[in-house]
Amino acid sequence: MKKMKTGMALIALLLMPLFLAAQTEKVDLDMFYKIKQFEKSNSQIEELSFWMTDYLGPRLTGSQNKARTNNIVKSKLEEMGLSNVVIDPVRPFDRGGWDNEKTYVAMTAPYYCAFTATPKAWTGSTKGLVKGEVIMLTVQNPDDLNQYKGKLKGKIVMMPSSATYTVRFEAIASRLTEEELEALEKDNISGGRRRGSPVNFDFEAYQKARQMMQAQAEFLKNEGIAAIINQSGEFNVPRSNGANYRAGDKEPIPEINLPIEAYGRMARMIQHEVPVEMEIEIKNRFSKGDQVNNVMAEIPGSDPNLKDEVVLLGAHLDSWHGGTGAADNASGCIVMMEAIRILKELGVQPRRTIRVALWDGEEQGLHGSRGYVEKYLRDPQSYDLKPGFEKFNVYFNMDNGTGRYRGIYLQGNEMIRPVFETWMAPLDNLDCSTVTIRNTGGTDHQSFDALGLPAFQFIQDEIEYGRG
Ligand SMILES: [Zn+2]
Repeated sequence: MKKMKTGMALIALLLMPLFLAAQTEKVDLDMFYKIKQFEKSNSQIEELSFWMTDYLGPRLTGSQNKARTNNIVKSKLEEMGLSNVVIDPVRPFDRGGWDNEKTYVAMTAPYYCAFTATPKAWTGSTKGLVKGEVIMLTVQNPDDLNQYKGKLKGKIVMMPSSATYTVRFEAIASRLTEEELEALEKDNISGGRRRGSPVNFDFEAYQKARQMMQAQAEFLKNEGIAAIINQSGEFNVPRSNGANYRAGDKEPIPEINLPIEAYGRMARMIQHEVPVEMEIEIKNRFSKGDQVNNVMAEIPGSDPNLKDEVVLLGAHLDSWHGGTGAADNASGCIVMMEAIRILKELGVQPRRTIRVALWDGEEQGLHGSRGYVEKYLRDPQSYDLKPGFEKFNVYFNMDNGTGRYRGIYLQGNEMIRPVFETWMAPLDNLDCSTVTIRNTGGTDHQSFDALGLPAFQFIQDEIEYGRG
């Protein structure tokens, strides 16, 4: 239900040309009504959700399953009757392909217990089934590493972690309250999402931690250890993330993320001087030559003078590998696909071309949307503008989880406020009416915003986004 409403808010906005002055803004209420009615009786959101998460599975950039996903998504967009459906390579992918083919992780002493674990992407395989003593690395600065010299060969090394699990008395999921929405409208500060704003960032501490990590990585590489164990923050699921790897580098040491309870159980035993042993088998496959591939489709424009202009909507199709990327960002892709499906089914003939772009490589650095900018809008070397730049109308992005749309971030663009206010007025009864001057970051609209192009992301209810 909440997703259905989210989709309707988006579709209504897509039909509005952006650069008209607010005074001349004409809202097609008849079309609003048709879209709402159509979605109420013909929603495909539930089916698309199953299809994109359970059926398509994890969609790590450069992985075999991402390639499978691209082909299936392309077929689905063609089935919807959309035009110019393409898998569009836009950039080489600097990390290359990586696939996990086997993960087995267990504690074998003082007793047997298998753990749920996720290997860190772009780390290596174990040499078959490896078994060894678990050593907790306790280091504060690079010099502390010397005490381990020559003692770690074949060992399984736990990286230190200070994370603890805090019991919560409030619900994990939340919606934005009226007060929070009001504050969003009034406070002109950067940082859109409540929990996403950087607070007093300590650059010195960050640099120190980074240097420590580099020294540790270098040391462990030379000591011939069997595997590295990390703790997944405060989360009860093993987090998925990636190593700082570039295609052609030597394969990094196998590295595994464990949930806090599994990690904590072993850490506490080691603190009590109880010997702990584990056995691990990880099989990962590296492959070369992968591209960053966006999947795109469109409804061509019908006005001879405006059809080359593009109204772009998108979300990132890639995810991390530990789950099915439902909240990040299947939800965004589902909404964008449902939005364009409804427009197609209603036989809408927009004056401008409406294009949906499902980006690749967002998680590794907004590669898909940046690649689109390089290919169609601005040359990355000469900075010469390409023909697509002049024809770019607007971009709408979604990448903040499954929550209902509550409004939109203006990205500091005050001039556009009256336009959005006019468009959103009929959406007030969907609780989507907040227009905030704030920026929000961390995702693909930034690739366009960086060039001064109008590119926006919606304010969404947080639900459980960012809560593992
Ligand atoms: Zn995302």
